[in-house]
Amino acid sequence: MDTKHFVVDRDKPDLRILDQAAAVLRQGGLVAFPTETVYGLGANGLDPRAVARIFAAKGRPADNPLILHIADGHEVNKLAARVPANAAALMAKYWPGPLTVVLARTRLVPDAATGGLDTVAVRLPASTVARELIRLAGVPVAAPSANTSGRPSPTTAQAVLADMDRRIEVVLDAGPCGIGVESTVVDCTTPVPTLLRPGGVTLEMLMDTLGEVEVDPALGGDDFVPRAPGMKYTHYAPAAPMTLYEGDAAAVAAALAGDTGRLAASGRRVGAVVSAETAALLPREAETAVYGARGDLDAAAAGLYSALRHFDAAPVDIILAEGVAEAGLGLAVMNRMRKAAGYKIVHC
Ligand code: AMP
Ligand code: MG
Repeated sequence: MDTKHFVVDRDKPDLRILDQAAAVLRQGGLVAFPTETVYGLGANGLDPRAVARIFAAKGRPADNPLILHIADGHEVNKLAARVPANAAALMAKYWPGPLTVVLARTRLVPDAATGGLDTVAVRLPASTVARELIRLAGVPVAAPSANTSGRPSPTTAQAVLADMDRRIEVVLDAGPCGIGVESTVVDCTTPVPTLLRPGGVTLEMLMDTLGEVEVDPALGGDDFVPRAPGMKYTHYAPAAPMTLYEGDAAAVAAALAGDTGRLAASGRRVGAVVSAETAALLPREAETAVYGARGDLDAAAAGLYSALRHFDAAPVDIILAEGVAEAGLGLAVMNRMRKAAGYKIVHC
């Protein structure tokens, strides 16, 4: 199948184009679309056959559940059997936005979308293109990130096409995503809500609304030891093996400059995913992908996945990456960086 590439305005999209894409969704097809976080790979979330096509296009394990995207907050009541008070408070505060809540599901939600779980993940995105598309489709839209399973998420339509060309009917292109890391996933079925994935809504913002939040141990801090070998290979991985440097900023920059030089001198092609300040310290032989100015966590989030994907076209033998501070959006950035590195970390 040829993938149609439609360019739309981020703020005032042409509704005739979105309606064509919505018709594809209603007919069981796949449409990649921009959200404020990353590009999603959408299908009719109530149609098990359409949902199955998402798993096939991504090569995604069938037990990894999807997020159902809605266009209006009230639609959560069709998908969720109960909305506890803490979930309602989060939704009131952070919807529309980069927050996904996990709730007990209704029977309307097909097993295919939840990996057979009795819970469902729901999000109301802030992106105008996403919301208008879902509204016109008239159904909840199941959408994981629009990358091949295990690869960095796409933050541009070009990155979507690199993985999904000829596998999907349509990609809607509204330029680069603003936030750049996925939504925050909060399980609201536990007595104290549990952070399952850090994202665009920060832990500090959750605490502000809820008072207390559990953090899922499997989320993985810098001392995290993966329990199952599979956990360390299959997330956000760039084209070459990556090592993450974290700790004191000056020590990280010095270690990166030294190790990059040594590796390059031994004939290895070295890639560096770094801040602009660190890039300036690296030997010229290194291929650098800059994610932003040091300390600018918004820029690091927005630039991370395209920096990781930079090495698809500029092949290297090894990638060295500079970590960021773990506050605010930095928690989500470090979660993705550690996974991208398979937890291969140098502490500085
Ligand atoms: P993606 O947007 O590609 O990262 O995929 C959706 C994310 O939401 C994955 O990390 C899922 O594990 C998570 N998710 C979706 N549904 C559920 C659920 N019912 N319970 C827990 N996590 C979920
Ligand atoms: Mg994903």
